[in-house]
Amino acid sequence: MQSLDSEKGLIKFSHCKKDIFCSYVPKLCPVCGQNLNYRRLEDAPVSIPSPFVNGHRQKCSFLLKPTTGTFLREYDGSSDLHVGISNTNGLVYNYNETGIHRVELGWEQCISIPLVQPGMYGLLKQWDKYLEEFSTGEAWFFHRYDEHYHNCYTYALAFINCVLAAQGKQPMSKSEFTERFVIPQTRKASKYITVYREVAENYFYIGDSPDQEQNNSEEDKLLH
Ligand SMILES: [Zn+2]
Repeated sequence: MQSLDSEKGLIKFSHCKKDIFCSYVPKLCPVCGQNLNYRRLEDAPVSIPSPFVNGHRQKCSFLLKPTTGTFLREYDGSSDLHVGISNTNGLVYNYNETGIHRVELGWEQCISIPLVQPGMYGLLKQWDKYLEEFSTGEAWFFHRYDEHYHNCYTYALAFINCVLAAQGKQPMSKSEFTERFVIPQTRKASKYITVYREVAENYFYIGDSPDQEQNNSEEDKLLH
């Protein structure tokens, strides 16, 4: 197993009608063993950024990570997930059975959904105050926690809805937020995890090239 820099992302190139993912471009094609020459511009190596970011560097975002371990190493597709909201200084607010936590560490590999559009200076200025005030509410005392009905997601979504209300916008249901914002990201992330682990294990992930193969897998499309 090679040690990969989890923040660096991967590289993709095409040869032999295959899309080949790797952490560095080899001299020879791993499929045909020939020198790599690219007949078309779109076959040349491109970087595939990691879908995971350091949550402590994401301002005003909804963050998602496995409750224990990391996405790239431990996540198995059904592990418990935990969510939080970042302030403007890299502090991540999150709610669990012991109450509200404001942490500077532990959210280094997250899926991040930015909640403030660029240019919304008013909201950005108020964000930390809103988040702090919201989090001290008694709804988020530890004894109110319930794994299924009053959890980290309830907290994060309630805060998002508070911000939406302050802007005169309609609240979002859990399923609406999940389907619109979370699922597209997690789908992309899970494909990336598959490719990443294969590259870590065997240096290459070789998939059918989508524009040359009719029966292309969802995988290849999502990584573009
Ligand atoms: Zn080849």
